[in-house]
Parts: sequence; C-alpha cells; structure tokens
Amino acid sequence: MNTTGTTGRAERESRRWGPRGTAGATFAGLLAFENVSKQFGKTEVVRDVSFSLAPGEIACLLGPSGCGKTTLLRIAAGIEKPDRGRVLFDGQEMAGPNRFVPPEKRNIGLMFQDFALFPHLSILENVAFGLKNLPRAEARTIAGHALERVGLAHHAADYPHHLSGGEQQRVALARALVPRPQVMLMDEPFSGLDQRLRESVRAETLTLLRETRASCLLVTHDPVEAMGLADRIFLMRQGRLVQSGTPEQIYRQPADAAVARFFSDANELAGPVTGGRVETPLGGFPVPAGFHGREALVLIRPQGLKPGGAGTDGLVVEARFQGDDVKCSVLFKGVDERLTALVHAREAPQRGQTARFEIDPEHVFVFEKPVSPPIS
Ligand code: ATP
Repeated sequence: MNTTGTTGRAERESRRWGPRGTAGATFAGLLAFENVSKQFGKTEVVRDVSFSLAPGEIACLLGPSGCGKTTLLRIAAGIEKPDRGRVLFDGQEMAGPNRFVPPEKRNIGLMFQDFALFPHLSILENVAFGLKNLPRAEARTIAGHALERVGLAHHAADYPHHLSGGEQQRVALARALVPRPQVMLMDEPFSGLDQRLRESVRAETLTLLRETRASCLLVTHDPVEAMGLADRIFLMRQGRLVQSGTPEQIYRQPADAAVARFFSDANELAGPVTGGRVETPLGGFPVPAGFHGREALVLIRPQGLKPGGAGTDGLVVEARFQGDDVKCSVLFKGVDERLTALVHAREAPQRGQTARFEIDPEHVFVFEKPVSPPIS
C-alpha cells in the first residue's frame, strides 16, 4: 500500500537529495571471504565463513543480534584481524596468514549506525576529511559537489548538531563515498532514523550506491530492509553463514524452518510422513526430495491460508482489520492452536463465522524434525 502521504514524503525527501546521476563513478571492486573465523575469548563468533561479492553488487549481511555480522564487517574493513582464513579485494589478500593491509590502505568506504561525524568540523570539512591526500582546495571542491548531490550544499558551513538525523545520514554517506571506494561497508546505517524517514532514505541511498557502482556490504538485522535493498542476502546464525541467495530465493526457498520463521510469521503443524507426504488436519503435503524422517514440520505463512475452494472448514474466532488485509485467528478441527490467516479485506470472513480455507502451496514449507535452533 502506498498512500498519497508516503509518496509526497518520498518526493520531498528525493528533492532534498539533489540531482541524480551526479555522483562520481567508481570502478567496482570484488570482496571475498575465504574460510574466515574469529574468536573472542573462548567464543568463536565467526565460523568458517566463505562468500564473495560481485563487482557493483549490493549485499546484505543479515541475522539476529550477536550472530557475528558486525565482526565480519570489521574484518573486511581491517578493524579486526581474522584468526583463520583470508579476505581478498579484487583477488589481492587484505588479511590472511601472509598479509595484513590496514584499513586506510583498503579503498573502502565505512558507514556506521551513529554516522560518526566529527562534531567540531563543519559539514563541508566532514566530507572533505576523506580526501586528505588531495590539496585542500581541491578536496573542498569535491566535497562541495558531493554535498550538492545529497542535497545539502546549503548546510556546508553548518556543524553536525545543526542537522537532523536524516541529514546527518546523508553527510556520512557523502563522506564515505567521496574517496570513490571500491567497496562500501555499512553497519545498520538506517537504524538511527525515524521509521517514517527510513524508507525514503534507503531508496535514495540505494540510488546513490548504484550510481557510484561501488560494491556494498550492508549489515542489518531487519529481513524487510534486506529484502528491499539487497541484490543478494547472506544470512548468518551463530557465526555461520546459513543461506545465501537473492531475496526472492531465500523467501521462497528457506533452507530450514528457522530461516522461514525469520522472514515471516508462520503457522506450524507437525504430522507423520507416509508415501512421500506429510499428513495434517489441513490435508497432505509432499515432503521434499531426500526427506528421511518419519515426522515432518509444516510451516504455512498466514497469507497462504486463503478463503474458499475445496479446503477445510475453520471457525474464525478473531478478525482484525489491518487496512488492505484482515488478520484472522482460525480454529480448525484437530489443531490445538489457532492458526493465523492473512486475508484480503474484500474476501475476509467475519468473526464467529465458519469459513472454508484452502492452502496456497507457494506459502507452505515442509522440513524434517527435529527442528533447527531458532534464528531470532
Ligand atoms: P549486533 O547487531 O547486536 O551488533 P552482530 O551480529 O553484529 O550483532 P557482533 O557485533 O559481530 O554481532 O558480535 C558477535 C559476538 O561477539 C557477540 O556476542 C559480541 O558480544 C561478541 N564480541 C564482539 N566484539 C567483541 C570484542 N571486541 N570482544 C569480545 N567480544 C566481542
């Protein structure tokens, strides 16, 4: 749903960002992790992680708090050293058994949750800070262009505390991008922003990143943010890489029950497996190839329980209006817990009504029991 209000806000935000297509282009770099591990004390917080970023790719490192995302980002930046494994930029070893390249020699742009602007420097000086190798006048000219691009040229002489959170975010982005890094590393760059601003700032950041063609690895714990931003998601759990793929691949083919639950709410049913199908009170579902167990767990997303068709009757014990959709709690015969159905408002049953529900197989996932540990 996009209301006139949010469109208006997005347009206003977009105007504030200055003309598109004016950010300096960069030669995109390729970042690779090879069997990277890192331990703090006795705890291994990053465990044998391997993946690589294609040039120009925008990727999200996604996972719950404490799963090791920031540590991996700091290893890429050169702020932490890996205990084992290697980090490569464009095939060159940045960290590994033979070499350690310090952060300032890595051609990376860094951006953190708190934006880390220098309070005693003007906005222009903050952005020019990343261009210390250039003559001062040239650095200030380039910084001025970058501020124009993010729509903040009129704040050049101001100090960070004069700016709103959204504006500070844009200064931090301009500062990280002016040296034309091959790789941008961003740690929860939107979480300090007001919820209403977040979406438009994200969209503009994405446009700017595409324009510069830098590869980007962005840390987030928010699956919705990752799906909205990333070409590819790298999902971590307890220090390990659990699954990687496009947002659509991970959403449609979650590797295990915990991944499915992390991406959306799900109703859960268990049932015995016979003849390649798991039987539940809501019908039978095929088990995936290579399934070995005698019992299976069936996850059904709320939007996969739809009214009508040749389904199963259920008593609607609650129906909550949510705008376009109505969230129904439904009791089915043989199921102890109420299941949740997310139904389009036009076809939603009323509370107290018995309605027939069919299941959309696109929103059904069958996994073996025992279940993988929770991801959040
Ligand atoms: P969050 O989003 O909460 O920052 P995260 O997934 O980014 O979570 P990390 O910040 O990488 O996770 O932390 C992983 C684990 O390592 C945590 O248990 C954390 O307490 C621990 N840790 C991180 N840095 C250090 C350090 N310098 N010394 C000791 N333990 C650390």
